[in-house]
Amino acid sequence: MLTKVAENIYKKAVPLPNNPLREINAYIITGEKNLLIDTGFNRPECEEALKSAFTELGIESTDLFITHLHSDHCGLVTKFATEKSTIFAGETDGELINFEAGNLYWRMLDDLFIKYGFPKAAFGRNTDIHPGRKYCHEGRVDFTYVEEGQVLYYGGYELEVVATPGHTPGHMCLYDRKKKIMFGGDHILGTITPNICIELSCENPLQDYLNSLKKVEKLDVKLLLTSHGTPIEDMYGRIKELIGHHEERLAEVVQILGDEWKTAYMVARDMTWEIDCKDWDDFPAPQKWFATGEAISHLQYLYFSGSISREEKNGVYYYKK
Ligand SMILES: [Zn+2]
Repeated sequence: MLTKVAENIYKKAVPLPNNPLREINAYIITGEKNLLIDTGFNRPECEEALKSAFTELGIESTDLFITHLHSDHCGLVTKFATEKSTIFAGETDGELINFEAGNLYWRMLDDLFIKYGFPKAAFGRNTDIHPGRKYCHEGRVDFTYVEEGQVLYYGGYELEVVATPGHTPGHMCLYDRKKKIMFGGDHILGTITPNICIELSCENPLQDYLNSLKKVEKLDVKLLLTSHGTPIEDMYGRIKELIGHHEERLAEVVQILGDEWKTAYMVARDMTWEIDCKDWDDFPAPQKWFATGEAISHLQYLYFSGSISREEKNGVYYYKK
């Protein structure tokens, strides 16, 4: 469905079949030049949905802004860019986007998860399991990198780039100071808690994320256009809830650790998850991966703040209270 959310801003709900997220909101700003913010996975269902939105709006070419490296946000980047298009992203995630189109990125990510206790044979080297790998974009993207404070002009909006690392190391939002509208990517979501997961080049993502929440809290935002779910009108209330959620999670992780040395994978197994599965063994492989990533980010935060200990044994990290 294509919905007008503000003057010259349209939201297209792009389906993500068989994915718990169900859909992603791609935003299209129309004007003398058009701007597409995020794309959906590189799969035909997403491509058709976006194409129909372009047809409906009578758009033939567009510039693109990619909020972050996840494939549901950038999977179609090379398919919707024409020779005339400028493709914006932050440098950190832009480089990772080009890196993730190859095998080495996934091997390194796999090795990183093994370091945190994820079973060796379970996942990473299988190209069909991780949705981010299965529906990754094709080809090299020639990005124009944006920096904090830079302003992009589209559809009568003055869109300021706001760096919001946490959900990914180079996550970027766009903010119109006068109109008080923000395109928030996956930084703040209304119905689900953004996954905070370890990435290459980032050791303490939860610390980055909490800093970015506090940074955005200082901005005057009346309408937050999120990448999943409905727009948020009370961003400040949602920020409080998200901070509270992570505080509870940190307390839970400390309790699970107790006095025994445990890996992040062992901690993830014992954390509570809102998922329709009878136990941990019943979790689909991608959900075990994301859960472990979440456990890692909380353990690393506790370790760097001096609340827990970490030891490396046989190339694997173990944590203890
Ligand atoms: Zn994401």
